[in-house]
Amino acid sequence: MKMTRSQIIEYLRDPRSEKGLWKRADETRGKYCGNTVHLRGLIEFSNVCSRNCLYCGLRRDNRKIKRYRMDRRQILRFAGEIAAAGIPTVILQSGDDPSYRTGTLCGIISAIKRAYPFLAVTLSAGERPLADYRAFKESGADRYLLKHETVNPGLYARMRPGCDFKRRRAILEYLRKTGYEVGAGTIVGLPGQRLEDLAGDILFMKSLKVDMAGIGPFIPHKDTPLKSCPPGDLGLTLRVLALARVVLKDANLPATTALATLDGRKGQILGLGAGANVLMPNFTPALYRKQYTIYNRKKFVGMREVLKTIALAGRIPDLNTPGAALILHRVQP
Ligand code: SAH
Ligand code: SF4
Repeated sequence: MKMTRSQIIEYLRDPRSEKGLWKRADETRGKYCGNTVHLRGLIEFSNVCSRNCLYCGLRRDNRKIKRYRMDRRQILRFAGEIAAAGIPTVILQSGDDPSYRTGTLCGIISAIKRAYPFLAVTLSAGERPLADYRAFKESGADRYLLKHETVNPGLYARMRPGCDFKRRRAILEYLRKTGYEVGAGTIVGLPGQRLEDLAGDILFMKSLKVDMAGIGPFIPHKDTPLKSCPPGDLGLTLRVLALARVVLKDANLPATTALATLDGRKGQILGLGAGANVLMPNFTPALYRKQYTIYNRKKFVGMREVLKTIALAGRIPDLNTPGAALILHRVQP
């Protein structure tokens, strides 16, 4: 059944509809995605950022964090750990860090693919010249995650000074055309965001036919201009997630780390019950992880936590056979 914009807004407005909505999302997830939870091993390879998003602790003007950049050798090592753990996908995420030249990133991608041919490579490195996305694809990248953040152009421009929504959308369309599996997504609870905007976010992702949608609550960071703003609401975030599942049907929807940060005990379990089918265990080493402070009190979600969450939710992790992982691990990059 199709959902109209006004029906979506009604669901978003009314927490009493929640249980029924979660059930419907869970059924849709079961029908289109089955019971397995897909795992994506996350490497946060640089916290250097040339942009100044009001919400994010990695913003250029935050002088309080120590910046780091991983080199090719380090990235390959952590990709090897992900392959060895039997995880089928690596996500390489960073600030918008232009110091990684096109050729450097291409070299890293192709080296990962050579060493671990069964590993899908997802990039999440922000906005770059369009030609870069093509070059990354030709080097073997499979997917690109670029959250559109908010579909409201005015709010987008306020939150991301110097950036504009039209460009974000154009990049997402280009990624699609270039043959990537494309991920978009939204931050729920940005100051000034309306329910209409969130409904627009869901419909935007539908029109883009996204393969993934990252939906997480806003969490303030103490060294940003939004430090005194309240965090996004857990219930509202889960309603957006559930509605995204009902509308997007077979898209991959992570139960985000931001959900775990909002409610450490059950945030992600609730997410898995409200339509999510993906978790992203973090493989960034502790030293760097501490500096990758997009928001405060970011919860560490590693492989152990992920497997526990999946078991508690009564679902099955999607892992390569350990034997295959061991053989792959022996291949030297
Ligand atoms: N620089 C890249 C990728 C790294 S940021 C980019 O911006 O696309 C990854 C994601 O973190 C962003 O897409 C944004 O949605 C999320 N994020 C940043 N600050 C946040 C905050 N305070 N609360 C919740 N999510 C946040
Ligand atoms: Fe940089 Fe991404 Fe954070 Fe914006 S959200 S400041 S682009 S890391």
